[in-house]
Amino acid sequence: MQDKSITHGLWALTASPPPDLSSLKGDTRADVALVGGGYTGLSAALHLAEAGADVVLLEAEEIGFGGAGRNVGLVNAGLWLMPDDVVKLVGAEHGERLIEELGASPDLVYGLIERHGISCEAVRRGTLHCAHSRAGLRALEQREVQWQRRGAPVILLDREEAAGKLGTDTFHGALLDRRAGTLQPLAYANGLAHAAKDAGARMHIDSPVTSVERIGARWRLTTPGGLVEADSVIQATHAYPAGAFRDDIKNLIPFNFFQFSTPPLPESLRNTVLPERHGAWDTALILSSYRIDAAGRLVVGSVGRVDAGGYGLNRAWALRTLHNAFPQLGAVSFEHAWYGRIAMTVDHVPRLHVTGPGYTVITSYNGRGIGPGTLFGKRLAEHALGAPLETLPLPVSPKRPVLTRGLRGLFYEAGSRAYHFVQRRF
Ligand SMILES: Cc1cc2nc3c(=O)[nH]c(=O)nc-3n(C[C@H](O)[C@H](O)[C@H](O)COP(=O)(O)OP(=O)(O)OC[C@H]3O[C@@H](n4cnc5c(N)ncnc54)[C@H](O)[C@@H]3O)c2cc1C
Repeated sequence: MQDKSITHGLWALTASPPPDLSSLKGDTRADVALVGGGYTGLSAALHLAEAGADVVLLEAEEIGFGGAGRNVGLVNAGLWLMPDDVVKLVGAEHGERLIEELGASPDLVYGLIERHGISCEAVRRGTLHCAHSRAGLRALEQREVQWQRRGAPVILLDREEAAGKLGTDTFHGALLDRRAGTLQPLAYANGLAHAAKDAGARMHIDSPVTSVERIGARWRLTTPGGLVEADSVIQATHAYPAGAFRDDIKNLIPFNFFQFSTPPLPESLRNTVLPERHGAWDTALILSSYRIDAAGRLVVGSVGRVDAGGYGLNRAWALRTLHNAFPQLGAVSFEHAWYGRIAMTVDHVPRLHVTGPGYTVITSYNGRGIGPGTLFGKRLAEHALGAPLETLPLPVSPKRPVLTRGLRGLFYEAGSRAYHFVQRRF
């Protein structure tokens, strides 16, 4: 297990706890076995159990160990890609359905939070995608046109309007998406786990799947303490594949993202930064994110890691960035720093694989997993209950290693360090 202070940071300290779970001991049977205790696996567990299926979820470490417990907490409505690019890449039929379902995924997330009384600092006042340059502003203009054509409540704010909502005039403008919001990411995962358990899902932590075999008409998943035999399997190991799925890491491009959080801002300054509590990020290739938690801590993030050599450089960048963007805060200090791994693909489209009868794998949400994970967990649960594959909003594709992954990963890491070294110095 990694040091939680540098992997889950602030979120590990302020999340309400997960349900009491133990490792799998002995052999069991289920209709559906789920691998991975992040948003996808937990949403699948909840929806399957609510539909009356007998379901077992296996998590190698603990609930929210992967991206679910480390992310920024922006509940976005859509992918990183522009809507028209989604259509070009996955085709009109799947593309428009994917855009529509992901556009509505914040409704699903906030609906589950309300229905199950999940305590996770949920705020739904929209997000701001901020233009870091004139080119960034032009890209946001295109996004606005493409979303508005699809009827989405997305509106481009000019520099002055954006400054009022951000508390800084460093950006050229910002795209306000009223469908979106923020939450405490680990608390949301823990809340989903409570809801799934209450609905009857059996869930085990510290239970890495070490092998998968086809035995007759069933799948056998083996863990160190016992095994599960199931008619179908949903594998949702995403950017953290371990045990039997270790090699899946070769199918994605690793992209690390760190965050630093301040102590709660003094009452007198709290409303001078993101006063309406929007979540924000920018259009730069080495992007930055900004949000405020329920206690008034400012959380700033960007590409890279904060272990090994990255800590000092990235901390200095974060201090400079806050000083330049929000001089009203005066001298700032940080209480927590942590990072996690995002699963990217070359074309930024998530991947759905079917590797055998009733065995589905979903991965690579490209940094957008709260809405997509919750949605695909639900949709894959429906598929396990009999809905045809064709009803899913993503085409099935073969597993393929990304041959340039090492180089691309290095490009992001080295590129982000160089960028953070020079940015805002001059
Ligand atoms: C730093 C960071 C910032 C991000 N910011 C945002 C954001 O603001 N908004 C947003 O929407 N998304 C964001 N994301 C992306 C989002 O966190 C992920 O897309 C999301 O967590 C994916 O959910 P998941 O359930 O598919 O996988 P994960 O949450 O990664 O869960 C996978 C789980 O599988 C388990 N596992 C792996 N192998 C095995 C095995 N052999 N046996 C059993 N279990 C196994 C792992 O331990 C892990 O817990 C961010 C990600 C990171 C890392």
